[in-house]
Amino acid sequence: MIERRLKALANGPELRAHLLDPHTEAHLEAYAGNIEYGLGTVKMPVGVAGPLRVRGLFAGGDYPLPLATTEAALVASYHRGALAINDAGGCTSVLIDEAVSRAPGFAFPSVRDSGEFVAWVLGQLETMKAVTGQTTRHGELKGMKVTIEGNHVYLILQFHTGDASGQNMVTLAAEAICQFILENSPVTPDYHFVEANLSGDKKASAQSFTSVRGRKVTTEVVLSRQIVEQRLQTTPERMTDYWRFSAMGGVLSGTMGVHGHYANGLAALYIATGQDAACVAESAVGTTRLELTPDGGLYATLTLPNLMLGTVGGGTGLPSQQACLNMMGLAGTGKVRALAEVAGGLILAGELSIIAALSAGHFARAHRKLGRERGQEDTDTSTGQGDQP
Ligand code: NAP
Repeated sequence: MIERRLKALANGPELRAHLLDPHTEAHLEAYAGNIEYGLGTVKMPVGVAGPLRVRGLFAGGDYPLPLATTEAALVASYHRGALAINDAGGCTSVLIDEAVSRAPGFAFPSVRDSGEFVAWVLGQLETMKAVTGQTTRHGELKGMKVTIEGNHVYLILQFHTGDASGQNMVTLAAEAICQFILENSPVTPDYHFVEANLSGDKKASAQSFTSVRGRKVTTEVVLSRQIVEQRLQTTPERMTDYWRFSAMGGVLSGTMGVHGHYANGLAALYIATGQDAACVAESAVGTTRLELTPDGGLYATLTLPNLMLGTVGGGTGLPSQQACLNMMGLAGTGKVRALAEVAGGLILAGELSIIAALSAGHFARAHRKLGRERGQEDTDTSTGQGDQP
């Protein structure tokens, strides 16, 4: 089938050479469950930053950070932030909540019927938990919220998803719950949808921002003045001045939360480790805060409430993606919470590095050197490239 598709395309031989290389061809079976009308694989450059020292509830140790990107300067920048964090003994990164929701919607003839339905459905949580258990071994229904909008009712079903990111898992469970509702509700809906767009799936939403979608982590580090000056080539005062300015910039532009560039590190980590890259849409929200410490150092923290990631399922078992998770020691069962805490550390490294670069006036220089003037080995520590991982 792939050969036939390639032949039908104008530049078939070129596509074959680049997309259906021998390694891809040898692993076609592994990709089959993740793609329709497949042609092969595209290659992304992948680099490694760190290892980053993370002290968490679930993560503990030094983690190499695989980052797949085409943006020059990105890996160097995260690496530089990781070195600064390591100089301080590592970051503290803590998982504080987890849940993935699906939000089926039910339409009734009137608001009175909506009310009657809600009065019934609120008493069905335990049965719905049992229904969920028939669709998944690792997923669990943890809770339910209800929103009434006229004759429409939305159920926000909140699941734990084991070590999986969980989007498929919660869809299958929600479908079974909808079926249970249709068969048992004393009020019959006119129609329903398994997802009525109130879950925050693949979009930034205030609801997810103020609660949780996926895993929620909070991460912090204290950098001494010496680390900021030597490793980041700026001062704590310049960094907090920049942070204050940029926080107001975020407020004035109406961003969800306040941060520098979460999407950069998250997209690169998600692609490298087989996460659904489209979930960067909801994952790249949160808050970064910088403060001076009483002894002239720098306190930095961030909170990421919507990390949609897994260490099983989705694309995490594909050959290169699994290899990247293995590099981190975070493939498979029992590892997702550690991965979320490491992701918090990675994103903090990126925030520190970009804020340092902007506050020191090095931002354009690093991109010019690493993006436009490639070739020579770079020993400039403002880009992070001088200290190889
Ligand atoms: P999945 O690969 O569909 O499901 C995870 C599988 O791993 C399940 O069969 C689960 O079995 C099994 N599993 C084994 N050990 C597990 C463990 N320790 N913890 C959890 N599960 C374990 O992955 P998913 O995370 O549910 O869904 C992610 C995929 O959904 C991504 O590829 C994403 O692109 C896609 N997606 C789907 C939707 C949608 O609405 N359907 C929306 C957005 C994205 P049990 O279920 O029996 O536990």
